[in-house]
Amino acid sequence: MMLARKNDMAPPLPVTAAHGAPTPRLRPIPWGLIVVLSVIFLGFWQFPPLDMLKHSTSIFPLTLHTIEESFAVIVSILVFAISWHTYDRTRSGNISIIACGFLAVGLLDFAHMLSYRGMPDFVTPASPQKAIVFWLAARYVAAATLLIVALRPWTPFATPGTRYRLMAGSLALSALIYGLQLLTPEVWPVMFIPGEGLSGLKIAAEYGIIAILGLTAWLLYRQTQTPQTFDAANLFTATLITTLSELCFTLYSNVNDIFSLVGHTYKVIAYFCIYRAVFVASIREPYQRLAQEIDERQVAEARIQFLAYHDPVTTLPNRLLTRERFEAAREEAREHDGQVALAYLDLDNFKTINDSLGHSMGNQLLQAIGARLREQLAPQETIGRQGGDEFLVVLPVPAGRLAIEARLALILEQMQIPFAIGGHDLSTSVSIGVAVYPDDGQDFETLLRKADTAMYRAKAAGRNGHCFFDQDMVKDADARLRLRNDLRPALERGEFLLHYQPQIDLASGRVIGAEALIRWQHPELGMVPPGRFIGIAEETGLIVPISEWAIRTACRQAVEWQAAGARELVIAVNLSAVQFMRGDLVGTIASALAGSGLEPRHLELELTESILIQGEENILATVQRLHAIGVQMSIDDFGTGYSSLSYLKRFAVDKLKIDQSFVRDLASDPEDAAIVRAIIQMAHSLGLKTIAEGVETAEILALLRTMACDEAQGYHFARPLPAAEFSRYIQNAQAQPAGA
Ligand code: C2E
Ligand code: MG
Ligand code: MG
Repeated sequence: MMLARKNDMAPPLPVTAAHGAPTPRLRPIPWGLIVVLSVIFLGFWQFPPLDMLKHSTSIFPLTLHTIEESFAVIVSILVFAISWHTYDRTRSGNISIIACGFLAVGLLDFAHMLSYRGMPDFVTPASPQKAIVFWLAARYVAAATLLIVALRPWTPFATPGTRYRLMAGSLALSALIYGLQLLTPEVWPVMFIPGEGLSGLKIAAEYGIIAILGLTAWLLYRQTQTPQTFDAANLFTATLITTLSELCFTLYSNVNDIFSLVGHTYKVIAYFCIYRAVFVASIREPYQRLAQEIDERQVAEARIQFLAYHDPVTTLPNRLLTRERFEAAREEAREHDGQVALAYLDLDNFKTINDSLGHSMGNQLLQAIGARLREQLAPQETIGRQGGDEFLVVLPVPAGRLAIEARLALILEQMQIPFAIGGHDLSTSVSIGVAVYPDDGQDFETLLRKADTAMYRAKAAGRNGHCFFDQDMVKDADARLRLRNDLRPALERGEFLLHYQPQIDLASGRVIGAEALIRWQHPELGMVPPGRFIGIAEETGLIVPISEWAIRTACRQAVEWQAAGARELVIAVNLSAVQFMRGDLVGTIASALAGSGLEPRHLELELTESILIQGEENILATVQRLHAIGVQMSIDDFGTGYSSLSYLKRFAVDKLKIDQSFVRDLASDPEDAAIVRAIIQMAHSLGLKTIAEGVETAEILALLRTMACDEAQGYHFARPLPAAEFSRYIQNAQAQPAGA
């Protein structure tokens, strides 16, 4: 079974922190509703064509009253229930005040409904007086509740248990009014005079309520103007609508008329606003916050989960996920007798790119490489980032090497297509080491180690290629580690030396120069060639002091040979890309020249194409300063990199050193011959000289002459020689020019 793919795309980071407390905010007042209700009220009050409705005594029958009051009672009890049950000690005590207030309002409205004219006996017979007593009591409690919450700050109760005392008070008040009305109704003043209608006291009582509500509305309106943690807008609206409702109750002449209907309806609407205020504040908003809180947490969790399994720069699977994918692929392979190749990819020139173009460009390159590799791979294959410029590829394949080779060839090919990044066309290549399950090991760590070892072999074999692990490599890796450790003391102990290889002018056959090639005389390992330690010296940065030593030594040696007769001898030294990034190359050259007394034109610096290809401004500036000193410059191993004519023009080098890989088979390979001929012609057209490296036979030398190559160097003339032997060599050569 393949492991389910973990999401490869990074989710966004959570935007805000989670929070529980209500946030203060402005809530809009529903002015539309207020205006509509006011217009309706004014219409019935002041619009003569509606007068007939005013005088109708059947427009608000008992059934409708009972329905509306039932609704009002239900809403009041809902207000109570919601406010009471969503209580928590950190929230405002006003919610509990509304709860207890509306508990009493609901109970009193219930009694009012049962006392309405036409209802059956409720302990005592129904009557307008009885209904009005309960009615006014309910209205006063509602108005007082709203006034208290408009006055009191929205803070929690200071003393615990306050809400229980409030509820007890609310129940006690309701019971008292019930008791007085049902048992001793005569204690109440007369509110309704049969045959006459409302008493003056009743109308005055309604105005009292209107006055309380007016004050409350004003207080609440002010609160709606600033952000609040509670729904001031709905409480304000409820207060205004209740006021309109009360106005209706000062105007009705008959409990079944239009004002009674409108007043009752407005009361229900007002209660509904209060219900909304407590519902929204107590349930909806906290719920929305919770749903939001949950969303953000899920995003954060997804992000953490993603980061646990992915590399943040490339978003590719990290080592952990790559390992899981490998293990899943291994199980699959085990069942089907297949194999799983673990390929360790290392970019060949990433350090130079990173050092010269900066980390941001380096990261962009890594991203682009990751993306391109991801595109190339099949769904069951995995590309992960191991770290730095190293990638891992898990390739489940059928038995045999062919399938692996085919996949690797594709990867190598893809990596050679330049990447367009930040206005640069960055060329890169990879070296790949491969270890295969089950042949090279069973577990991820073992295979990773072996693939890493094989990768170093691929690097040593000239980069831009792949190498399968084999057991002998373990010894090599140990040796490499040893060289790395021994390199620093080697410089202090003076274990480095230079050999010199003569360079011959083909027209005259004279020795015109010498290339200084470094060697390491290791006390136990013997003579170590540069190919084995230059890379390590570059990685560790030790190349800078080592090269400095080589440049000084070569300059002093050249001056010695010039003094001995070889007056025009040019000494060529090899430079590493790292020297352009670290240390003071120009200063080193200048001081080596000054210290030895060598004329600058007798020093030639061999640059590689990888140095120039970066095209960075500071490399150009360094090359220009070196030109200004007066030294010569050549491009080593020409033809193996990606140098273009534009680089040659831009850097104004003096000479191209045709790489020995083209020279070696010049006699037998027509393609190589064509390349060498083309390089020579191009160089000449640009006014550059050419030198062929690796000339091993007279036949090749003859061919180079026919191609009008300027100079040559190779075993045919001499191997790189210790200084003393080189001295003898030039003495002999002066007597009899080589190859003349
Ligand atoms: P390179 O600069 O291209 O040097 C030429 C290499 O080819 C030398 O290898 C030389 O010994 C070898 N060679 C010369 N003639 C022939 C021939 O006819 N046939 C064959 N097969 N090989 C020939 P060496 O000395 O092992 O140096 C290898 C590389 O190490 C050099 O390649 C150069 O890139 C680097 N290197 C050597 N010395 C230094 C140094 O002081 N500083 C730096 N940065 N690199 C150095
Ligand atoms: Mg060289
Ligand atoms: Mg070379």
